Amino acid sequence: MVIKKNYINFFENNHAIMLIIDAKNQNIVDANNAACTYYGYTKHQFSEMKISDINTLSADSINIEINNVRLEEKTESYFKHRLANGDIRDVVVYSAPLGKSDRFLLSIIHDMTEKQNLEKELVLHKAYLEQLFNNTPNAIAMLNMNFRIININKKFQKLFGYRLDEIKGQSISEVLCSGKKLNESIDFIKKIKAGKVIRENSIRKTKKGKLVDVSIVAYPIVNDGKAIGVYVIYVEMTSKEERLSLKIKDELTGFYNRSYFINKFDDKLKNIQEKEMDKNKIFLMLINLNGLNRVNDNLGYRIRDMIIKIASERIEECISNKDILARIGETEFALLISNIEDKMKIIYKANNILGKFNDPFVIGDNDIYISTSIGISNYPNDGVEINSLMRRAHISMYKAKETSGNQFQIFAPEFQNKVREDFIIENNLRHAILNDEMLLNYQPIVNAVNGEIIGAEVLIRWRNKELGLVPPNKFICIAERMGTIVSIGEWVLKTACKQLKSWHDKGYKKIFMAINISIKQLEEVNFPLIVKEILDKTGLNSKYIEFEITETQYMKNINRIIESLKEISKLGINISIDDFGTGYSSLSQLSKLRINKLKIDRAFIKDIKVDITNTKIVETIILMARILNIKTVAEGVETIEQSNFLKENKCDMLQGYLYGKPVGSNLFQKMIDERLFK
Ligand code: C2E
Ligand code: CA
Ligand code: CA
Repeated sequence: MVIKKNYINFFENNHAIMLIIDAKNQNIVDANNAACTYYGYTKHQFSEMKISDINTLSADSINIEINNVRLEEKTESYFKHRLANGDIRDVVVYSAPLGKSDRFLLSIIHDMTEKQNLEKELVLHKAYLEQLFNNTPNAIAMLNMNFRIININKKFQKLFGYRLDEIKGQSISEVLCSGKKLNESIDFIKKIKAGKVIRENSIRKTKKGKLVDVSIVAYPIVNDGKAIGVYVIYVEMTSKEERLSLKIKDELTGFYNRSYFINKFDDKLKNIQEKEMDKNKIFLMLINLNGLNRVNDNLGYRIRDMIIKIASERIEECISNKDILARIGETEFALLISNIEDKMKIIYKANNILGKFNDPFVIGDNDIYISTSIGISNYPNDGVEINSLMRRAHISMYKAKETSGNQFQIFAPEFQNKVREDFIIENNLRHAILNDEMLLNYQPIVNAVNGEIIGAEVLIRWRNKELGLVPPNKFICIAERMGTIVSIGEWVLKTACKQLKSWHDKGYKKIFMAINISIKQLEEVNFPLIVKEILDKTGLNSKYIEFEITETQYMKNINRIIESLKEISKLGINISIDDFGTGYSSLSQLSKLRINKLKIDRAFIKDIKVDITNTKIVETIILMARILNIKTVAEGVETIEQSNFLKENKCDMLQGYLYGKPVGSNLFQKMIDERLFK
């Protein structure tokens, strides 16, 4: 009885999970309450189970394990055990023969899953802390209670010039303080030992002996209520004003902010002028990150901020410590480079920065490519005061942007002319429609199989008294910027529809018209309504109208645009993607819409049989479109070779100088007369 009672106390009510196993047949002979709770079986269920019902190993492997225990060769094993609810847990099992006979084994089971998860979490935690420690923009030293150095972060190395192995174990005050500062530092130590957080502005010495102004925060590292070490954080301040105002840095990047940059720039210019060091050149570089609005719209501002932060680090890698770098706008950085005689060094620097943007920004599952546009101006050549230097660097930056992609531009006087020209265009454009200065040209689109004219692309022309004939590439983007494109586009649509209706009425075979539509028009909520009104008024069947949308601008306001395009599709109008291959739209974007046509960009057609990659791209686009049941048009076909290649690859339609240049309505009608059978 006594034995039984003891057994019950020890076994049944033990908090440890315990099983008794018959080594001969692997049967579970008994399981305690803790085991029943843990595994989720009743005692009765256990009595009918074998150990192989919970251990994930095979019965044979279990036998080997059991024999090892019987021979007392092994007492501790790691297994995976299956619970009644199907969960698999990592366990460590301590087993030993029970009593003198080695038939029954007592196993005590410890669940390891939590512990393993905890360990994983700890490793992760440590990695996070390490990252934080090393990537924070401030210098940090970790000290023991004797103020000897245990660890330093990367910024500490950069600021003070020491590697950890040079100063590990040394007293922080001996390393960083010189002469009289040492006493002050001893005072500092006393305060910390008393458990106080200390903040102060002071001076510290670098390895090379340079003195730096720093703002210091030190606080004890406390464990179990006891100070076991000290963290000291040093924030570098390069001037007196900084000590007075800490509001000089941009929060996100840790760079200087705009107002500080302007002050510093101004100081520098005055200083140079006072000392009449005119030969001493200063370069201003403005660096803009392109396409971040798109990221904002699609992925949210957090990702956008992450990109700006990573971009800032990439830029920082390219500058020397004499340069002054600031974030002066949402997506704009400014870099001031002094004492440079050789322009080549600036070009080298700009190329270096651009090169840093060849690699994508990997954020989660997204590979995001961001390009930069850099504009450069120079003192004293491009201006002697800050406003003109900033303005000219800006003009150059926009010029770089226009040429698209990763580019830099050094200011040239012609750029100024371009700004003036844009200004004149803007002023004249306002009245162009009223003054009846716009007209339309039509360029034939032919069936690739038989060369028959089956349609026309409508291309706008602007003839102005002062400016002469202004090509659309010059004024469309300005009209888009001004918003005038909406009324211009409406005029194009009205005029083209009227013209087409009259051709149809005259009995010409039913050709179609492809009309270029600006994204700005699609963003207008009432655009589909206007289109419908024009169709109703002219009485034209909508199936003969096709809207060409340029792919490059595709992503902005994507939802609004998709909405407009859906409504336009509903009206029976076809949708064609213009300049296909150059922009952003992926197949997934296209699949949201009913796209009828892809227009392969001229750049690819030009390269047919010249550039292998581009030739392959053309083949692939046509093939892909065929699979998706989308028609293809090649634009800019100028040679028989190009035309033959496109025909061989089963491109559906061709357009280009080979078949006819854009011409006025009368000439186009003649073209149809000659080349199309009524
Ligand atoms: P796009 O839509 O890509 O138009 C094709 C351009 O290529 C036209 O230039 C056309 O004249 C030219 N082109 C056609 N075949 C050939 C060829 O074989 N070789 C070469 N080198 N060029 C060829 P264009 O008329 O100067 O128009 C330029 C751009 O202006 C158009 O590019 C289009 O994006 C825009 N645009 C023209 N009309 C309108 C309009 O009514 N509304 C809007 N929103 N944009 C328009
Ligand atoms: Ca077009
Ligand atoms: Ca095009």
